[in-house]
Amino acid sequence: MTAWIVAADKRVASVVELARSLGGQVIAVTVGDVTVGGVDRVVNVPVADGVPVEAAAPGVAAVVTAGPGDVVLAANRPAERVLAGALAARLGAPVLTDVVSLSQGAAEVSVFGGVSRESVSFAGPVVAVVDGGPAAGGEAPSAETADAQAHDAAVTSTERQDVGEVDLVAAKRIVAAGRGFKSEEDLALARDLCGALGAELACSRPLAEGVNWLPRDRYVGVSGQKVSPDLYVAVGISGQVQHTMGMNGSTVVVAVNSDGNAPIFRDADYGIVGDLYQVLPAIVAAAK
Ligand SMILES: Cc1cc2nc3c(=O)[nH]c(=O)nc-3n(C[C@H](O)[C@H](O)[C@H](O)COP(=O)(O)OP(=O)(O)OC[C@H]3O[C@@H](n4cnc5c(N)ncnc54)[C@H](O)[C@@H]3O)c2cc1C
Repeated sequence: MTAWIVAADKRVASVVELARSLGGQVIAVTVGDVTVGGVDRVVNVPVADGVPVEAAAPGVAAVVTAGPGDVVLAANRPAERVLAGALAARLGAPVLTDVVSLSQGAAEVSVFGGVSRESVSFAGPVVAVVDGGPAAGGEAPSAETADAQAHDAAVTSTERQDVGEVDLVAAKRIVAAGRGFKSEEDLALARDLCGALGAELACSRPLAEGVNWLPRDRYVGVSGQKVSPDLYVAVGISGQVQHTMGMNGSTVVVAVNSDGNAPIFRDADYGIVGDLYQVLPAIVAAAK
């Protein structure tokens, strides 16, 4: 079997690792100016300046000739999702999202926002959208170039959104703030702790998609970022499964919560039951 990786971005280390675990040949189909290491073959689909990578879908589909048992993997990012969908339509293949595990002919996917898991099996090719992870390292084979295709799409205007540019996936230490914070100004306490620990600031979803105190790329969880730092400090976060699914790859988890029965303590290596307004300044003072 062959595992095909469709990559419009170099941040596909987790995808490469998953493809390798399947045991067959791994071919990366890169779109535009992207390098991917750790694979057996690279086929590049060129994209001219000003053409969105999504427009290369027919070219990508022409390169990927998946057969029974083959897996097509794409990182869970907007451009790759478009390419994955177009490929699935072309191949007549099912699309799997929220993939927890994948092997030849079978997968487990997370459903209902992470509350449950479903086992699925497939005989023909399947397209799976999975977490990309950081940039793929390893030696990059020299790329073969696919036949250029004419694209009748062009970017006519761009509008910059005011989002942060934090790379939580690569962060070694994270302080995550939840609804236990009473106001946006109070996040200064979390920022102080970040400063003391050399950590990045993250949050639960309500702070990014509710009160909008932090940009959306800072929230952790099943529908946000999946992180795996050495240290994850969850402050004022209750620990619903939709949040913990994004941080359960952390090495050490510390939870600060005023409710001793908060579910987050089940996922924590160290727990502090207390008011964050007292606990955080004390930790910061101790760290200094
Ligand atoms: C389909 C779906 C997808 C979702 N995806 C995500 C996701 O990706 N990420 C995510 O985070 N959520 C996600 N959610 C939302 C999730 O279910 C929870 O609602 C959310 O995680 C709760 O955020 P929270 O823990 O900050 O808030 P709450 O659940 O309100 O918890 C606040 C906590 O703060 C504590 N607290 C209050 N005051 C203090 C204080 N002074 N000191 C210390 N502790 C205090 C409380 O005891 C409580 O435990 C999703 C939900 C659905 C339905």
